[in-house]
Amino acid sequence: MKDIPALYGSLVFNDKVMRNKLPKDVYKALKKTIENGTHLELDVANSVAVAMKEWAVENGATHYTHWFQPMTGFTAEKHDSFVTPVGDGEVIMDFSGKELVKGEPDASSFPSGGLRATFEARGYTAWDPTSPAFIKDRTLYIPTAFCSYGGEALDKKTPLLRSMEALNKEAVKVLHLLGNTEVTSVSTTIGPEQEYFLIDKDLYEKRRDLILCGRTLLGAPAPRGQEMEDHYFGALKPRVAAYMHDLDEELWKLGIPAKTKHNEVAPAQHELAPVFSTANVAVDYNQLTMEIMKKTADKHNMVCLLHEKPFEGINGSGKHNNWSISTNQGENLLAPGKTPAQNIQFLVFLMAVIKAVDEYADLMRVSAAGAGNDHRLGGNEAPPAIVSIFLGDELTAVLKSIEEDTYFGKQKAVQLETGAHVLPHFIKDNTDRNRTSPFAFTGNKFEFRMLGSSASVATPNIVLNTAVAEALSQFYEELKDTAPENMEHAVHELIKRAIKKHKKVIFNGNGYTQEWVEEAEKRGLYNLPSTPDCLPAFIADKNVDLFMKHHVFTKEEIFSRYEILLENYVKTVEIEARTLKEMTVKDFLPAVASYASTVADQTMAMKAFAQEVPTSEAQALVAELGTSYEKLSVSLKDLDERIKVVSQAESMQEAADLCHTSLLPAMDAIRAEADAAETKIPDEELPYPTYDALLFSI
Ligand code: ADP
Ligand code: MG
Repeated sequence: MKDIPALYGSLVFNDKVMRNKLPKDVYKALKKTIENGTHLELDVANSVAVAMKEWAVENGATHYTHWFQPMTGFTAEKHDSFVTPVGDGEVIMDFSGKELVKGEPDASSFPSGGLRATFEARGYTAWDPTSPAFIKDRTLYIPTAFCSYGGEALDKKTPLLRSMEALNKEAVKVLHLLGNTEVTSVSTTIGPEQEYFLIDKDLYEKRRDLILCGRTLLGAPAPRGQEMEDHYFGALKPRVAAYMHDLDEELWKLGIPAKTKHNEVAPAQHELAPVFSTANVAVDYNQLTMEIMKKTADKHNMVCLLHEKPFEGINGSGKHNNWSISTNQGENLLAPGKTPAQNIQFLVFLMAVIKAVDEYADLMRVSAAGAGNDHRLGGNEAPPAIVSIFLGDELTAVLKSIEEDTYFGKQKAVQLETGAHVLPHFIKDNTDRNRTSPFAFTGNKFEFRMLGSSASVATPNIVLNTAVAEALSQFYEELKDTAPENMEHAVHELIKRAIKKHKKVIFNGNGYTQEWVEEAEKRGLYNLPSTPDCLPAFIADKNVDLFMKHHVFTKEEIFSRYEILLENYVKTVEIEARTLKEMTVKDFLPAVASYASTVADQTMAMKAFAQEVPTSEAQALVAELGTSYEKLSVSLKDLDERIKVVSQAESMQEAADLCHTSLLPAMDAIRAEADAAETKIPDEELPYPTYDALLFSI
């Protein structure tokens, strides 16, 4: 038996290690920086660097790296060794405060959306002391933010930290106003539930589409999909169980609190959820989790697919972003309280989230955008592309009673009592979970379910934090001149006004229906089905204003990100189109021709024996395969033309629109033809494994 508590965090430069290794005053100064964001003096940094290096070397590390999250969606690292020559051919293991605090990777090959054209070509990485350093593959990993020399963010962590700061500032102001003066800071907490597929590596390697695109571009459905509903929470197969054990241990070593694991709805699909952490730490953890999932799968001769839609016809994978706000005293501001004062506070924060999501639903949609996720959203397996909020019947009723003045009663004297009365009823209720809602209140947190499985959790939280900060800042302006004795009444009136205005975003029904799409349109909610449809919202004036007001993005940063997102979408679809073409031409069509001629030969042979025209069925089959061959060849030429048109588009937006309206439909048509032909060909004649094999191989 392994000693899990001893294993847990054993590769992390965590609080315990810091307390042991650092001089007391240094430890205190570092803690102050971590907790209050105060500036770290160089002598403190030097002292931390020495301790970090010592600990890292003791644990087998020879290198260190500034680990960051550029706009690629992946993480990046460049390794430097601790080795420093000291003359006479001797070396020491050295690491300074300067090296800890700041790095200068050559940034020119990371996407910048044109930012570096106007600024300097170099970028720098800055240590994020609030996310713990760790050891992986004998290297000390230092979580960092990545900026240009002008200070423009080139990564996902910088704006996330800025958005956390914005929310902190506005939330504390409101809390103080409401009389909760003990609180000095708040932070956002995230628990991302991660879905993924596991397939056999030998099969994976036979498919160009999986290797190059992470999803299948061809492939007829297996006779058995997910209709038996027997996979969800089903018993783990031994190979999967062994993988999950291994994965848990690898994550635990890095202090990542992996907690639950189970089979998901689709065959070969699984989920892992950690215990929640502070937002920026949770984002780092999730990036690491995805990486280690893939690595661990490889050790087990499997491949972990994080694509949002690896297989047609069965559920894709998402990432549920559980989000809440908690104070430095550990109070969850989205947990309904037991006292009237706590309830008032809860209602203000709840209302702020509702207002934020209503006003910035378009940005929430943008935060989940991507070529992969487009196959999922609105596909009756994942939330629709319309952002709405599920509150549950009880909370909806509470807000309704405030709106209609049935909550505070007629006389002032009963306000408190009624307030206390109505609210404590809603304890965490798991029974009325609405799986079809993109943004659901789940008792003491909100769960944003639109995000795709491969995405960084940073983006939706940047939007959410900033939008809620804005709502709180408006609430503060409305309430700030109110005398304490009138606060309750003023809050009541504020919520009344707000709920009237924003209740249109609340929807407790089934989000998968066509009725909802129509209803949402009547309500004036955004419905932005695809990535090219939604991305212009990112640069809409109201959204630029929001980010600028709260110092989360500059205008240049927003526009550069918009370009990067478009470019990423276009590149992804273009690669898919080219892969589909190659796979059809080099793998599939030869198989069609070869099988057709085999059948034709056999028919001839049979004819020779039987001396009469045999099996019109066989002849029909040969003819059908021939027709498919022809049709596919013509369609491929057409696809080529369309690819050319995309490459000649005048702007990235136009290219993205063309990908959506021209390339993807053409690819779908090719797939439909090929998949129909595939069902007529025996497995052993096919150049790549079928859905049957892929989904039921483990
Ligand atoms: P499920 O949604 O599958 O029913 P849970 O409700 O238990 O599961 O939790 C899902 C995720 O929500 C977990 O990762 C958990 O850590 C996270 N979570 C719980 N409380 C909070 C919170 N206050 N802030 C952020 N995430 C939270
Ligand atoms: Mg969930």
